[in-house]
Amino acid sequence: MKGICILGATGSIGVSTLDVVARHSNRYRVVALTANNNIDLLYDQCIVHRPDYVVVVDENKAKQFAERIATSPVSDIKVLSGAESLQQVATLDSVDSVMAAIVGAAGLLPTLAAAKAGKTVLLANKEALVMSGDIFMKAVTESGAHLLPIDSEHNAIFQCMPADYCAGQEAKEARRILLTASGGPFRTKPVEELVDVTPDQAVAHPNWDMGRKISVDSATMMNKGLELIEACLLFNMSPDKIQVVIHPQSVIHSMVDYVDGTVLAQMGNPDMRIPIAHAMAWPERFDSGAAPLNIFDVKHMDFEQPDLQRFPCLRLAIEAVEAGGIMPAVLNAANEIAVAAFLDEKVRFTDIPYIIERSMHQFEADPADTLDIVLAADSKAREVAERIVEELKR
Ligand code: NAD
Ligand code: MG
Repeated sequence: MKGICILGATGSIGVSTLDVVARHSNRYRVVALTANNNIDLLYDQCIVHRPDYVVVVDENKAKQFAERIATSPVSDIKVLSGAESLQQVATLDSVDSVMAAIVGAAGLLPTLAAAKAGKTVLLANKEALVMSGDIFMKAVTESGAHLLPIDSEHNAIFQCMPADYCAGQEAKEARRILLTASGGPFRTKPVEELVDVTPDQAVAHPNWDMGRKISVDSATMMNKGLELIEACLLFNMSPDKIQVVIHPQSVIHSMVDYVDGTVLAQMGNPDMRIPIAHAMAWPERFDSGAAPLNIFDVKHMDFEQPDLQRFPCLRLAIEAVEAGGIMPAVLNAANEIAVAAFLDEKVRFTDIPYIIERSMHQFEADPADTLDIVLAADSKAREVAERIVEELKR
């Protein structure tokens, strides 16, 4: 029986993870659940899964939640609050696996704490890895933690790697990664119309049902940019060996091209329970609840080169990873600010890459040797990007 801590239990990945956990209650026990402020859903999850601990980051909501739990049938659950408690529950002795499913930089410290504590880290929170890069990978190696990718593309690549492969190792016989992308909702929209895109249009992804931030990232293709950086780190490959491929049907979730000419692909329906179940059962397999792929429904599969004019965010991410140092953290921070401003209708869709590019120009790619340097770059880049948002609002 393994104990699992789910960071970001109330999000899209968190909910899918609990669905898989419920199918395998003989293998997994929920030790801790965390949420930012959605206490209604968290309450329902507590009734079903009976964790030992919950963290509600928002202090007021945590107080309300503790009162509700005290008079509930699950009154023995310990309710903690504040961001520091996330690290506490991610490193409990009774926790074997940590699902890192907080969105954005807020997930960095607890995810890194889990890696340092040698937990099995199921990594959905790509922003944490993009920001901390080699620091994160070093923490994994030093502690002997298992790092298993949840992002569907990276999980696909991992599945196409040799059987004894561990994240962070160099796979010498793999010469290229083909990182697939759906192209999002605006793949074929006339470029001049992108300026008028609304948040509701941007979050309506054709193939995947996800949180709002990653949905906007998919529409700008910053998601693929972050994933390219994620792939460089997870699979120890230089960016020039990673080819982004637009594959609108999202049947193939990525491929590995080997030196002998073999190309291995992982396929399946677009259902995040597949990579989640893969990582939870690894090195075995178990049922995910996802419908089997009906190959006859797949009429054809298309593959296109990405258009960097239409998707400048992808170009900026490539520039950031090539520059190295703190630049991926700067890119990520500026993107988080720009996306939040777009979702708040303060700036336009096409302002997102503009804000990121101008922010990046304010920084040199200084070495990112310590966590303090990364966190300082993150907060400085947020300030810079906020100022650009204020300028654009006027
Ligand atoms: P979501 O917005 O649906 O959920 C985010 C979760 O994080 C919620 O539980 C929320 O309470 C928590 N959270 C938000 N801000 C927080 C804060 N400041 N402190 C603590 N907790 C906070 O997001 P999602 O779509 O589930 O994505 C989660 C992560 O997984 C992201 O990094 C995303 O890129 C990655 N991911 C998601 C998918 C997907 O299909 N949804 C696929 C691949 C990767
Ligand atoms: Mg993905």
